[in-house]
Amino acid sequence: MPRPALRSTSWKRKKVTTPGGTKKVHYTKPKNAAAKCAQCGKALHGVPRTTAEKLKKLPKTKKRPERAYGGNLCAGCLKKKLVMENIKVA
Ligand SMILES: [Zn+2]
Repeated sequence: MPRPALRSTSWKRKKVTTPGGTKKVHYTKPKNAAAKCAQCGKALHGVPRTTAEKLKKLPKTKKRPERAYGGNLCAGCLKKKLVMENIKVA
């Protein structure tokens, strides 16, 4: 029986056959929560699902899409915002 923290369904189980031939279950850490759109709450694309420490080591261009409100608003909400502000979308 694994320790209580590993019994959670958020931990993924992987059945592994060890070199000795015994079958074991390996547990993989749950993924970090995806960044959400500030308006609609949809998961954002182009924003990695990693820990804050790993994000710190990434270059700025890998942390969010390089456009206005990138990493804050989703593409749909940005389009609506730009239409409301009367700015032409390319
Ligand atoms: Zn949105």
